[in-house]
Amino acid sequence: MDRPITGFHQDDEQHWVAELSCGHNQHTRHDPPLSEREWVLTQQGRSSRLGISLACPACDRAEIPEAFAPYKRTPSFTETSVPRALLANHTTKAGVWGRIHVERGELVYSIEGASTGAQRLVPGTQGVVVPEVEHRVEPRGDVSFYVEFWQKIS
Ligand SMILES: [Zn+2]
Repeated sequence: MDRPITGFHQDDEQHWVAELSCGHNQHTRHDPPLSEREWVLTQQGRSSRLGISLACPACDRAEIPEAFAPYKRTPSFTETSVPRALLANHTTKAGVWGRIHVERGELVYSIEGASTGAQRLVPGTQGVVVPEVEHRVEPRGDVSFYVEFWQKIS
């Protein structure tokens, strides 16, 4: 999944790391001859790369980024109280991840474009909501669930 660069920082060894909109980091080392990225050494070079997208394998694996933590959650919803908006395709904002927790029953979780097909969520399993990726849920009978939202803690 392609994600735009939103900033840069240096790691403990002074190598440059690109920060992506999803919250994942990606090394953009200038480490010749292995990787030639002279642009990363100057403020101007880094600024010119802001907004440019890099492929993010961690998003493809639906891994919530390190340094993220839950900051709010929805009430518990049942098959009758679930907001209609959750039943149709919708997304979270850039940088906001989610986890769907099923407390009782079964929920079908569908992610747009996912090769794996719909997931069946039951108590003990979790659905990960990837930022800006369309998804929807569908109650299967008697169910209770809530969604937890995660963002970067700094
Ligand atoms: Zn990512």
